[in-house]
Amino acid sequence: MKGTIRSYLSVSQIRKYMTCGMQYYYRYVEGIPEKMGSAVLRGTSVDNAANEHFSLQAQTNNGLTQSQFVDFAVDVHQKEQDSDTFDWEKDDITKDKSKDRTSKLAATYHKDFGDKFKAKEVQVELVQVDNDGEKFKGFADFITVDGVIVDNKVKKRNVTPDLTRDVQLVKYADMANVDKVGMAVVQDITTPKTFYHHAEVTQDHKDRVNKRIEHVKSGINNQVFMPAPEGSWACTQKWCSFWEICEFGK
Ligand code: SF4
Repeated sequence: MKGTIRSYLSVSQIRKYMTCGMQYYYRYVEGIPEKMGSAVLRGTSVDNAANEHFSLQAQTNNGLTQSQFVDFAVDVHQKEQDSDTFDWEKDDITKDKSKDRTSKLAATYHKDFGDKFKAKEVQVELVQVDNDGEKFKGFADFITVDGVIVDNKVKKRNVTPDLTRDVQLVKYADMANVDKVGMAVVQDITTPKTFYHHAEVTQDHKDRVNKRIEHVKSGINNQVFMPAPEGSWACTQKWCSFWEICEFGK
């Protein structure tokens, strides 16, 4: 992408720009690293365990046992928790409690989803180059043997999503040339619950998402970086890493 620190566009960049153009500017034009909350670490830990589980299952027909799955996720948490990426001071959970929560999330994911899917490919790299030679790149969590692109999500709230408008899943379905998408959600609460959402996406859905991406791309290439809309949840000290340096923040 012109003038940015990345040579390609991704779903996280699109989402960042749609949340706040200035956040995009600080992160991807200035290259300032962002501090994350521990929810991201719990999500990554479960995601990595799921990748391992389904890779093994695709190769040998047997994935990880529940205790192996939990150990894998907790191990990722342990290794990553002291990284500079995470800001525990602003978090409402300690490292130990977050690790315990990760263990429960992983056990719940394995119980409800471990045998639900048969993965054909895991961590699938998808790359598309447009007419201007600009690259879009992403990794799908896994694609099942019956052609469903599945995204794992660890989320605080379970809001039933309209997957036909989900930029990530619809774009990945377009790139992988499939028309079925699914989202395997584990709710990040004291007693975690799971939800599986799925949808069929049509060419119309893909066209609409591609149009949205084109708009974002044009904004970035023309260096249009608008602040978050007034009253946006993102434009708060808790949720914006650039609060201290942005002229629209503090
Ligand atoms: S303070 Fe508000 S406008 Fe500035 S980067 Fe953060 S969210 Fe965007």
